[in-house]
Amino acid sequence: MKTLIIGETSNNELSSGTLEIISKATDLNLDFTVITVGNSDPSNIGSNDFSNIYFKLNTNKLNLSNCADEIKSFIEKNEIKLVLSNSSYIGRDIIAFLSIDFNTSPVSNVTNFEISNNELTTINLINGGESEYKASIISDVKLLLVRPKSFEQKGIQLSDNFETNIITDNENSIDVFDIHIEEKTGPQLEDSKIVISAGRGMVDAENLSMINELAEKLNAAIGGTRAIVDAGWMPYSQQVGQTGKTVKPDVYIACGISGATQHQVGMKDSKFIIAINKDEEAPIFQISDLGIVGDTLTVIPKLIENL
Ligand SMILES: Cc1cc2nc3c(=O)[nH]c(=O)nc-3n(C[C@H](O)[C@H](O)[C@H](O)COP(=O)(O)OP(=O)(O)OC[C@H]3O[C@@H](n4cnc5c(N)ncnc54)[C@H](O)[C@@H]3O)c2cc1C
Repeated sequence: MKTLIIGETSNNELSSGTLEIISKATDLNLDFTVITVGNSDPSNIGSNDFSNIYFKLNTNKLNLSNCADEIKSFIEKNEIKLVLSNSSYIGRDIIAFLSIDFNTSPVSNVTNFEISNNELTTINLINGGESEYKASIISDVKLLLVRPKSFEQKGIQLSDNFETNIITDNENSIDVFDIHIEEKTGPQLEDSKIVISAGRGMVDAENLSMINELAEKLNAAIGGTRAIVDAGWMPYSQQVGQTGKTVKPDVYIACGISGATQHQVGMKDSKFIIAINKDEEAPIFQISDLGIVGDTLTVIPKLIENL
């Protein structure tokens, strides 16, 4: 099945989500091409194993409709039957345009898919990750939005071997007046091998200093629940869960987190889960490999002391 992967960049490199999809396509031996969309000047996003075309957007305009038009022409010209994209802002916007162009419904929140006898079946999460369903996709052009961290990222050899296509603006392009790039320091949530997340059981925003100290000792990234993000203890960019980020670290330490399904959906696939909660009935313990029933404000300082 001829496939197009819509990729993205992060810090001038192929994003981890893009590399995850490329790994899956390679595993399935799909005949695939990548179109990477971005507005920076990346260098090492090509490959000798697959073709990657960089669709460079203007930084001062929002012009994804033009970009989607060119992707549409590429799909038609190359008789692409399957389009895979990350479930990201750019991915969702482009897939939305393509779904109108090809009069087909995109399948979102895909966590896996298989192809047998040229038939495509997807596995999707619904109800905030509480239920999974399988769907058989019969449209001519199949549009899939893949949930981050659904596939293992394999070692992919990248090179400078890629073409660039500058996307022009049109009368529908929207002017961008200001761009705020959030400062990122320390290990990043999506890539870190250890993630420590805080919940309302940290009792007060001031106590997050303990989480910072523990994270520094373990070289870990810091996340949080929506409850504390809504309370203004932490920025939204650190929220883990259904409406935040999906993480899959080797170790996830949940501090004072009840384990609501909307939180679990963003971290339940972590390899080893440690939970600290004073309520032994807290749902987070059901998915934990190691549970500590205790007060976060007593347990965390002891952990720091012993590291
Ligand atoms: C549409 C929708 C989307 C959502 N998306 C997200 C999302 O992306 N991410 C997310 O996290 N949530 C999300 N939520 C919210 C989610 O339902 C929960 O409300 C939230 O995860 C709860 O956060 P919490 O565990 O910090 O707080 P709580 O549920 O209040 O849990 C606090 C826990 O801390 C424990 N505790 C209290 N004091 C201590 C102490 N001193 N020591 C140890 N333990 C203590 C308590 O026993 C309790 O288990 C969403 C909800 C909806 C409806």
